[in-house]
Amino acid sequence: MKNIYGYTLEKLEAYFESIGEKKFKAVQVFEWLYKKRVKSFDEMANIKKETIEKMKNDFLMESPVITTKKVGKDVCKYLFTLEDNEHVEAVLMFHDYGNSLCVSTQVGCNMGCKFCESGRRRKVRDLKVEEMVLQLLRIEEDLNKRITHVVLMGIGEPFDNYENVIDFIDILNTGKGIDLGARHITISTSGILPKIRMFMETKKQVNLAISLHAPTNDIRNKIMPINQAYPLEELIPTLKEYIKKTNRRLTFEYILLDGINDTEECAMKLACLIKGMNAYVNLIPYNETSHIEFKKSKSENIQKFYDLLKEKNIQVTIRREFGSEVDAACGQLRSKYEEA
Ligand code: SAH
Ligand code: SF4
Repeated sequence: MKNIYGYTLEKLEAYFESIGEKKFKAVQVFEWLYKKRVKSFDEMANIKKETIEKMKNDFLMESPVITTKKVGKDVCKYLFTLEDNEHVEAVLMFHDYGNSLCVSTQVGCNMGCKFCESGRRRKVRDLKVEEMVLQLLRIEEDLNKRITHVVLMGIGEPFDNYENVIDFIDILNTGKGIDLGARHITISTSGILPKIRMFMETKKQVNLAISLHAPTNDIRNKIMPINQAYPLEELIPTLKEYIKKTNRRLTFEYILLDGINDTEECAMKLACLIKGMNAYVNLIPYNETSHIEFKKSKSENIQKFYDLLKEKNIQVTIRREFGSEVDAACGQLRSKYEEA
């Protein structure tokens, strides 16, 4: 049986048609689920009893459960337990422009980035659509706050769970659903090229962020195995095509790792690599994890790197550090919990 929160509006319309009902029922059900936020089919007052019974037979409504919650200054971090006892995290960050939720898309990750806690643990499975949707619903309910932005930057590689992620975005985005503007949604990928190409054809206005983390194949190969499959000479031209086709500005994420990718030479090479692209670089101070040997760059090196990019007319920001006190780095809370 499938969970009702896993259905896009279109798929729910198809369901109602298949049982000989009007498509419009799907809109009504969506309103109950996403506007009124009911938790049982029985509360759907404008739907006739017979249809409710049918739905109860055809759908589950179960939700992942909040297992731990850690509250920091501008951040709230949640660990969810899923139906098979696996765990994923979601982090809510309070910005001056709104509340941004970082959601997980998989249990673990197969991309194996050396600096990443989720990569170290490998993938157990993809998250289902409803498991992504319900991270948001449960947290809004817990805090009684509206989430205004969603970033797919938690555990997992979104483009390694492509179909489910696209359906999730559809439910977030649809006016009858969660009604979050596409421009308030960001997908972050390590660079799975075929999926970037597929995604650009959908012409969605969703933001795309690329985890670049190195300006040369040499360095990138060492810290991100995916670079061996899709090296920079293929990645960069595809991204240029993406920018041209979608007319959207791209984000490059660049974690600064002490002595590995934070030298002046790296800054110059990075500026060269992305020169002329409608893109900006988000420099990320590394969140040190307990198991891995990588160290965060010294703050004077972060500043120097930033200044060099500025001088080369690259748009650049340094990401504010959120939640290191609550183990906010991708996958950290899950590891600590499961390995305790
Ligand atoms: N798999 C996707 C999205 C999830 S990771 C991706 O790699 O883009 C989201 C971001 O967090 C990526 O840029 C990733 O490189 C970064 N990240 C992973 N571990 C981190 C850590 N310990 N400190 C800071 N950023 C980290
Ligand atoms: Fe996976 Fe992203 Fe971590 Fe790499 S950085 S292992 S792609 S979650």
